[in-house]
Amino acid sequence: MQTSPTNPGHANSWYAASANDKRVRPELEGETEADVCVIGAGFTGISAALELAENGFSVVVLEGERIGFGASGRNGGQIVNGYSRDLDVIAKRYGPEKAVKLGEMSLEGGEIIRRRVATYGIRCDLVDGGFFAAFTDKQVKEMAHVKANWEKHGHTGLEMVSKSEVGRYAKTDRYVGGMIDRLGGHIHPLNLVLGEAAAAEGLGVRIFEKSRVTGLDMGASPVVKTARGRVKAKYVLVCGNAYLGSMLPKITDRMMPVSSQVMATEPLDAKLIEDLLPANYCVEDANYVLDYYRRTADNRLLYGGGIGYGGHDPANLTGVIRPNMLKTFPQLKGARIDFAWSGNFALTLTRIPHIGRLSENVYFSHGDSGHGVTTTHLLGKILGEAVRGHAGRFDVWASLPALPFPGGRTFRVPLTVLGAWWYGLRDKLGV
Ligand SMILES: Cc1cc2nc3c(=O)[nH]c(=O)nc-3n(C[C@H](O)[C@H](O)[C@H](O)COP(=O)(O)OP(=O)(O)OC[C@H]3O[C@@H](n4cnc5c(N)ncnc54)[C@H](O)[C@@H]3O)c2cc1C
Repeated sequence: MQTSPTNPGHANSWYAASANDKRVRPELEGETEADVCVIGAGFTGISAALELAENGFSVVVLEGERIGFGASGRNGGQIVNGYSRDLDVIAKRYGPEKAVKLGEMSLEGGEIIRRRVATYGIRCDLVDGGFFAAFTDKQVKEMAHVKANWEKHGHTGLEMVSKSEVGRYAKTDRYVGGMIDRLGGHIHPLNLVLGEAAAAEGLGVRIFEKSRVTGLDMGASPVVKTARGRVKAKYVLVCGNAYLGSMLPKITDRMMPVSSQVMATEPLDAKLIEDLLPANYCVEDANYVLDYYRRTADNRLLYGGGIGYGGHDPANLTGVIRPNMLKTFPQLKGARIDFAWSGNFALTLTRIPHIGRLSENVYFSHGDSGHGVTTTHLLGKILGEAVRGHAGRFDVWASLPALPFPGGRTFRVPLTVLGAWWYGLRDKLGV
């Protein structure tokens, strides 16, 4: 990973360069105690820490690198409501009762983000509105089906977009239509997680950076160990997601790290970028391996896509993403690319997050499968609720089966690549 020259320890992203808060937190040294020890300072861990601090718990967060080092500080910044699998798939798989319960929670992640931004005055360039772009009539039909289904669960922010209206959201002739979500939106994700972390610190949470957890003793009083310190806690929350490594094989075997690549152009002429994305909505297309893009507050086009199963990156990130950007916006042929980076998210076989207990007092949540900006906020809060003794919603999630990848650790990558190749081919053929 190329690190940021102006914000060491982070990937060399536009986010790291434009972070509001570049303070380095101390490394954990010696022994300390807390009600709760959180492993990982991404959206999940910080969301849980903030929920607990707001309710009077003492919390220590241990982050192996920097706050927001993982997917939370590198993603497309798109507030996408719902889950990586549609609610009718959830109903078919797990029964209508579970779908109703998950449906009730499916807009909450976005609400949590907006509430925290307002409560704590977090500067993260929050903009409302998202556009799902369709390449084919089949994709339009699927979106209409999703819309009808969402509406049954109370989502009133959706509207279909005809071919002639596409230009309001993206000035490109690639799409035949789509759907907008007025309750979607976009943010500067690193500034969001940094703002939430600062809010948690304001309520007494202690965050240690460069404090990778190397061991965890479970039992009545769990002990979390780093190279130079230990935390004794009543509860431990494991929120390391795709960066957890092989520390806890029982849960990491149920997910696969997958990389996605992002780049940011130079700041564009205001008129040009307003012309390309007039409504300033974020855009994601409906392909299996999708492109996602949006405007930044300083008028760059931030464009993501690509996929690397197992978390492997292509050698030339710009070489992968730029041709896709030019297919969408040939107008940007001469635009300089200032930043290109990648990050790993955690994919589960079911595409549904994996939440549960490793013991009576060690809980985990991971595997938001590419759409995690909202669900991590929801599930972090739900981890906090479970520690507070309100495990009803936690248990709904924990009851969903998490399956191991076929092929085990050795063959899970090639088998998944094969599956993705097949779905990618169907997108190319438009079938
Ligand atoms: C390139 C990219 C683009 C994306 N775009 C979008 C998008 O536009 N919209 C959307 O909804 N989702 C998107 N996602 C997904 C979303 O970013 C993730 O689902 C979400 O950020 C995961 O948050 P998290 O807190 O669970 O994990 P992370 O943010 O990865 O945080 C985990 C943290 O735990 C730390 N850690 C791991 N192991 C240890 C250990 N042993 N000790 C201490 N610390 C440890 C890591 O250093 C890391 O900081 C994208 C993901 C990527 C990679």
